[in-house]
This record gives sequence, C-alpha cells and structure tokens, in this order.
Amino acid sequence: MSKAIALLSVYDKTNLLELAKGLVDAGVRLLGSGGTAKKIRDAGIPIEDVSDITKAPEMLGGRVKTLHPAVHGGILARSIPSDEADLKAQGISPISIVVCNLYPFSSTIAKPNCTLPEAVEEVDIGGVTLLRAAAKNHERVSVLSDPSDYTAFLKAYTSGAGDVGQALRNSLALKAFEMTAQYDEAISGYFREQYASGDLPKDKLAGPVQRIPLRYGANPHQKPAQAYVTEGELPFKALCGSPGYINLLDALNSYALVKELQEALNLPAAASFKHVSPAGAAVGLELDDVEKQVYGVDDLKEPLTLLACAYARARGADRMSSFGDFIALSAPCDLATARIISREVSDGIIAPGYSPEALEVLSKKKGGKYCVLEIDPTYEPAEIETKQVYGIHLQQRRNNAKITSELFNNIVTKNKELPKSAITDLIVSTLALKYTQSNSVAYARNGSIIGLGAGQQSRIHCTRLAGSKADLWWLRHHPRVLALPFKKGTKRADKANAIDLFVGGEVLEGGEKAAWDALFEGAVEPLGEEEKREWAKKLDGVACSSDAFFPFPDNVHRARRSGVRYVAAPSGSVMDAQCVNAADEHEMVFAHTALRLFHH
Ligand code: 5GP
Repeated sequence: MSKAIALLSVYDKTNLLELAKGLVDAGVRLLGSGGTAKKIRDAGIPIEDVSDITKAPEMLGGRVKTLHPAVHGGILARSIPSDEADLKAQGISPISIVVCNLYPFSSTIAKPNCTLPEAVEEVDIGGVTLLRAAAKNHERVSVLSDPSDYTAFLKAYTSGAGDVGQALRNSLALKAFEMTAQYDEAISGYFREQYASGDLPKDKLAGPVQRIPLRYGANPHQKPAQAYVTEGELPFKALCGSPGYINLLDALNSYALVKELQEALNLPAAASFKHVSPAGAAVGLELDDVEKQVYGVDDLKEPLTLLACAYARARGADRMSSFGDFIALSAPCDLATARIISREVSDGIIAPGYSPEALEVLSKKKGGKYCVLEIDPTYEPAEIETKQVYGIHLQQRRNNAKITSELFNNIVTKNKELPKSAITDLIVSTLALKYTQSNSVAYARNGSIIGLGAGQQSRIHCTRLAGSKADLWWLRHHPRVLALPFKKGTKRADKANAIDLFVGGEVLEGGEKAAWDALFEGAVEPLGEEEKREWAKKLDGVACSSDAFFPFPDNVHRARRSGVRYVAAPSGSVMDAQCVNAADEHEMVFAHTALRLFHH
C-alpha cells in the first residue's frame, strides 16, 4: 500500500516541526509549499515540494503555489471507483491530511499605515482553497487549520494506526469552515470600508447601496460606525439628511411594526418611536372633532387622510415622549401627513415612498437636514438574525409570529364579549409590544396606543407606567382642558407643555408659575382631585396587552383603574387563576394568548 500523503502549507509555523516529525515517524509522506517545505527540510525532516507533484513552479511571486489539479484532485477525490479512476488516469495520488493556516489579513490591515496594495497581497487564495477542499472532503481527509490541534491529532493518528476517526475529521472540518468564514468576513469588511458607497460621488449616493457610514454609534465616542448588508443592497435610501445609529434602530423597528399593523388591519399605520420603543402607534381610523383638538390637528388646512389620522394618533398619544421622534409610515407619505410632521419636533421618518409635495415639505425641515428614508416595501429580512454582544454572536430565528384576531380566541373570563373594535385595539397593543423593549405593557383605544410602559424590569411598573400615561391621555380630553383660554399666538409646543402640566397636576411656583399664568387670558383653576376621579370613571373599553404573563393580579386591578375592559396576555403564571378572578371581579374580558413577545 502506498504511503498516506500530508500536504503542509502554513503561514504560522508554530509547532510545525513537531508535527512534521510525528507524521514522518508515523510513515506519512510530506509535501510542502515553498517556505513550509524549506523550514521542515532545514530541520532535517524529509519533505518534497508541492512543485514536484504539480510539475509547475510557484509563480507570480507566490500568488500561485498550490492551485493545481494534482493538489486539489488529490484532496477532493472520494473513495469511489469513478474518482479513483480519474486520479489514476491523471497520475494523481490521493492526499489524506491537509495542514494549512492563512496569510495574516486581519493583523496586516490593523497596522496604522497599511496601504491598499499591501492589504490586497494579504488576501490568501490557495490556502483558503486548500482548507475548503479538505473540509469539504472530510469524510476521507483530515484538515488541520490550528497549530494547537497538532498534538492531539498526532496522538489520534498513531493510536488509530492512521485513522483518526470520523468524529475528529468532522470537528476539524467545522473548524476550517469557521476559519475561512471569519477570514472572508475580515476581507469583505475591509473592502466594504474602502469601496462601498460612502465615497461615491454625491449624485450616486441616493441610489441603492450596500453600506452607509454613520457619524458615530450609540454615543459620539463610538467611532467608526456603519450600517451594511453582506448580501444585496440596503433596502432603504436616504432622500434627505443622513441617519444616525439610533435613528436606524428606531427606523427599522418602527417600519417593521407599521408594516405588520397595515397587514393585520388593512389600514394605513404610523408609529412614533423614541429610543427603540414606540411612544405611539396607530392605524388610520378617522378622528372626531374632539380627537382632532386633542391631537392638535383641528387647524390643519389639508383634509386629513387616513394616513394622517394614523400619525396624528400615534404622535398625540404621549406628546412628551414623542418629542424628537423617529416616524414610520406603512404607506407613502402624503401632503397632509407631511404637514402634521412639519409642525412637530422630529428626527426623521421612514416610509415606502413620498408624494413630491410631501417630500418638498419634509426636505425643508431642520434646515434641510431632516432624515427622510425611503424603504423598499417588498423587502423581506432574513429568517435568521444575528447580533453581537460583548464579542459574542447571538443568533435566533426572527420573531415572525403573526398577530391576528385568532390570538385572542381563548377567553378565560366569564365575560366573553370581545367586540370587533376591541380586537382591533388588542392587535394594535400586542403588535406594538412585539417591537417594544421588554418588559412591556400597552393600552390601546380607537386603534391607537394611548399608554405604553417599556423597558421596566417589573411588570407592575410597566402596567402602572402605561396606565398613568393613558390617564393623562384621557385627561387631555377633559372639557376644561379643551377650553383652556390660551392667548392668541401661543406656540404649539408651549401649549402641549402647559396642558401636560395642567393634567399632570404639577404644583408650580415662582417663575415657572408666572410663565404658565402668562399663557392664558385670565386665571386658570387647577383640575381638582375629585374632578379627575369623576373624569377617570368615564373611560372604558380600553384594551391592554402584556408581552408576558401577569405574575400577580395587581396588574389587572391597576389596568381596570385606567378603563381597561379587554386584556390579552400569555398564561403560565402560578397566579393565573387569581388574575382571571380579578378580571371577573371587574367584568373584564381576558384572553390567554400563549404567545410571549419579549423584544431586545
Ligand atoms: P509558504 O510559507 O509555505 O511559502 O506559504 C504558506 C502560505 O501560502 C499559507 O499561508 C497558505 O495559505 C498560502 N498558500 C498556499 N497555496 C497558495 C496559493 O496557491 N496561492 C496563494 N496566494 N497562497 C497560497
């Protein structure tokens, strides 16, 4: 029987001589590329040059060393008659061990003065091909890509009389595949920075691109920063301004939300995001006169489209939180919606298109720096998503759970009356949670979020936070708020702040009180506690969703105090029965969903 053949071609020559000696002692014939063979031969260990079997010299200054059918035929041939016949016809011997590690691309480009030609020269071709070919044929071939594996391999090789076993070949192959993947990622990352759109002429910047540089990451000292896709093109482009890192987190989460809202309810949808959670989200149900006044759109000249209604609702739910929002629309932005946006303080918008008049209005915002992103509505994100935290890759299937009315079929309370409008509201509140930082609880009414508690570690704090926001939202409908005698010409933001102080019941003193008083024609009596209580009693029919089960019935009691009649939450708590009892006590409708919706 002819000797087993090992091909060695390594940049990092650590442990190489020990391995070579061990292999020769075990009766293996060695072949090596230029520098590898020289080092082994100089140590007095017998080795042939790869060129002895290829009958071709290394050429192009080392660019072509092992790229030859005599090498790759020898590695890739399976133990099947047709492959063996092919080898015999070409006079090629099978190779059963490949030892290879790659040119140091990452450390080369990390050097401060690394030039592009230097980086190009460090792109290993033949080595990657050796690793991939050997890993592909791991049923027969062992591939050693890491010098720290040599000792264990030699031990297995000698104790197995030349057969290290399939399990070891499998894990060595996996390691080689990981190594080439990592290597390629470093290369594409480097060239993405060098070549992708960032440096394209300005007129081409608006076109679809693979990467956009960001001014910085979450904070100004986090540089460099970029957004990119590894395949195809980015599904959005900037029509005006340029997005920041947190803008993009908001834009991508909020667009996913409004797209799903529109799909679920067949109505245009809008969201107003801050710090990667919705401050508001809504579908386009028409506004009545009181709502128009509450949402501050009663004076708009353009007739309100359904999309404009959706944004008015989304923006108006929690005006304080929405200050400086990132907006998402499920349908192309029209003039009425753009006009509402133009009057608000906002950071940017993402939508699947803009009418020319809408774009003209938005492009003038923030002195022309308002961030306007256009997203391809046909874009489908990959099924599997990966992010990196503290150097570790975390991978999961995307949360592709569909939120439909069937989710609320399992009603566990005595009261089982769930009207269509409540189902709409539960879909809005549940979908909003799918894109809200956990823990989270959301209240909705009239197709709109009216209070949302996000990112709290305790559920009752979410329920209280959402409840207190819903309470303020409801107080803003109070006749005394609607009749506040603002002086003519009072600015919108000043009105919004004054109303918030009024409904919040803040006790003002000194200069703040004087400034507040100066906004009105005549004195304004604060809203009394009794007045507030009476008004709160009038709120009913609110829907409430929770992204995980209620651990205690206090959540249900608290929700009821803000007019909640319909509740949807997963089951699974040891206190489920008590939570349902609490809902029964208030004649509420409680649907157990069996769907947890944590989002981070
Ligand atoms: P040596 O020191 O043996 O001359 O070169 C070893 C390095 O060459 C290894 O890092 C290996 O990945 C790489 N290599 C092997 N074959 C080829 C080839 O055909 N072309 C290029 N560019 N590199 C190769």
